[in-house]
Amino acid sequence: MNPNLKLVILDRDGTINEDHDYYVKSADEWVPLPGALEAIARLNHAGWHTVVASNQSGIGRGLFDMASLNAMHAKMNRLLLQLGGRIDAVFFCPHAPDEGCDCRKPLPGLLQQIGERYGVDLAQVPMVGDSLRDMQAAVAAGCQPHFVASGKHRGDDVLAVARLLEGVPGVRVHADLAAFAEALIQSERAARSAAGRSQPGSGHLE
Ligand SMILES: [Mg+2]
Ligand SMILES: [Zn+2]
Repeated sequence: MNPNLKLVILDRDGTINEDHDYYVKSADEWVPLPGALEAIARLNHAGWHTVVASNQSGIGRGLFDMASLNAMHAKMNRLLLQLGGRIDAVFFCPHAPDEGCDCRKPLPGLLQQIGERYGVDLAQVPMVGDSLRDMQAAVAAGCQPHFVASGKHRGDDVLAVARLLEGVPGVRVHADLAAFAEALIQSERAARSAAGRSQPGSGHLE
């Protein structure tokens, strides 16, 4: 439990890896998006812990099993390790939509589980995803919503994205996970130097 833990929650399909209309069902079908794993490693190097929150109804629908899901995540972490990055944990909803669970996004259950597990205030936690339901889950859980146009809405024009997200208060839009990482690191840097300026005599070298 560490209320000061720097934590980022990431959707998986369409945010870290290529999404498919027919589900990502195996490690072979799990293909990272360009620059996404590098972005995670960059966040990790800047002190951010990264966890995944993913709907995996393919389990509940019987399209793939836990062994396949574990193999996908082993591949993800193996590729990340080569870049010096890691996903600390994968939280997933295995339920089909008709099972009436409380963890399937857009419901906030999965994100709340993460908040409880890590003992963090979700208001301080960015949640990144490529679909409206990710953003709805983020808002419902009190996370900071960050939309990436790298998955379901890749290629949509600015107006279409604005329309999609018009009911999501405070949402920020990024091209992809690399752009999100850049923005987060820059805003943290700006906040730190603003704090430094307001404390005369506490100058620092960087
Ligand atoms: Mg997604
Ligand atoms: Zn669920």
